[in-house]
Amino acid sequence: MHIAFSNTYATLPERFFTLQHPQKVAVPKLFCFNDDLAHTLAIPHASTEKLAEYFSGNTLFEGSFSLAMAYAGHQFGHFTMLGDGRAVLLGEVLDLAGKRHDIQLKASGVTPYSRGGDGRGTLGAMLREYLISEAMHYLGIPTTRSLAVVETGEEVVREKSHKGAVLTRVASSHLRVGTFEYARQYGGQKNLKALLEYTIARLYPHLEAHPNKALAFLQAVMEAQVALIVEWMRVGFIHGVMNTDNMSISGETIDYGPCAFMNAYNPKTVFSSIDRMGRYRFENQPVIGGWNLSVLAGALLPLIDSDEDKAVEKATAALEEFVPLYEQKYDAMLCKKLGLERVDKEGKALANALLGIMQQKGLDYTNTFASLGFADKEHFVSLDDALKAWHAQWEHTVGDTASAKACMRSCNPLVIPRNHLVEEALVEAEAGNKKPFFTLLHALKTPYEGYENAQLQTIPYGVDVGYKTFCG
Ligand code: AMP
Ligand code: MG
Ligand code: MG
Repeated sequence: MHIAFSNTYATLPERFFTLQHPQKVAVPKLFCFNDDLAHTLAIPHASTEKLAEYFSGNTLFEGSFSLAMAYAGHQFGHFTMLGDGRAVLLGEVLDLAGKRHDIQLKASGVTPYSRGGDGRGTLGAMLREYLISEAMHYLGIPTTRSLAVVETGEEVVREKSHKGAVLTRVASSHLRVGTFEYARQYGGQKNLKALLEYTIARLYPHLEAHPNKALAFLQAVMEAQVALIVEWMRVGFIHGVMNTDNMSISGETIDYGPCAFMNAYNPKTVFSSIDRMGRYRFENQPVIGGWNLSVLAGALLPLIDSDEDKAVEKATAALEEFVPLYEQKYDAMLCKKLGLERVDKEGKALANALLGIMQQKGLDYTNTFASLGFADKEHFVSLDDALKAWHAQWEHTVGDTASAKACMRSCNPLVIPRNHLVEEALVEAEAGNKKPFFTLLHALKTPYEGYENAQLQTIPYGVDVGYKTFCG
């Protein structure tokens, strides 16, 4: 099998990576392959057996120059040296539009950065990433994508024994905030500068001629991250582990570990089993986004200005833009969820009143907005008595309810990866039944369509009580 790989990342100084082959697996067996994505990446067709051989890492693609990336990061607020502990970059490809993407195997065995981990992943965790990243893509949210999952025929132990699998992940790049932290901490100024030049050329080429590239880069990453987090808030997505090593420089959602979607609206929602303090709870995502950007700013300081005080001053001024920028985008998003193209006090108050009712009454975040946009008034107010007065206020504010509804249909999804459906798909897949996985994947491809057929997704009573997600 031939893929036209290049590997620009390997032109960086050697301390940014370690050459590393994926480790062979016992019995590679293809679980799923993303034909649509393969097509846009010009990845050729091949037999199921061949795909399993290559996308398990058992056979290396010609022209691949596989490596594990070095990076550091703040995990739950604490700085640590990390790196690809269970992943290798096979190489980069250009898609049909000429855009560059990393092709990475995840759970492909140990690397020098494994820190005692087994380098592997469970079938459930790899399928979870596949399902949710594809769902995010079809929701219109920047994300890494999933090309393939191959079962390894090996066991992976996470409290109990599970089937193992390897995921192929596609990203605009795997550069993270943590890559810059690594360069700052261990690389010296020359390497930090090399990383910045590389990153700008690859992801932000319009900044090449900027008089202060480091500062402009910080602002550009901030804009990308603000846009991304607002999108998460729009659909009720909780990333779950927003450590700086999981914050992509490209502004894509990356690392689908303990992520989940919120059902009943509660800004304090947290599902991740390792997030005991709720650091990464739903409402705290923008706060953490800002915190992570301040870490990026800290790493870039020597490149922002050779005078440290001036560098701090400039970085601080840039970071101060985060909150107003976020609020402006968040308010616009929320007003749009009500069908309001304009953003004003009245719209914001109306939106907050609805969120207040939803929280107090435990109403479903997705279904409440979907019902407002897709169903008739009777259906919407039947969700809860408290919505009656609110609906009258909404009609008064929007005026033309038909055009408001048209506006809402592109931003209020009908279908999201509901926790109970994801869990069922993963449990059944592990037991050898692929059907629920493919049924769910299919439904997730048209999240804004088919109200007539889909109706609203029903959530079994009490299904979220004690619901916990794991990294796997
Ligand atoms: P994450 O929390 O998924 O972002 O992972 C944090 C760090 O742990 C990264 O450096 C991963 O590569 C590494 N890691 C996670 N799981 C494993 C594993 N099973 N074996 C080795 N390294 C791992
Ligand atoms: Mg990670
Ligand atoms: Mg992870």
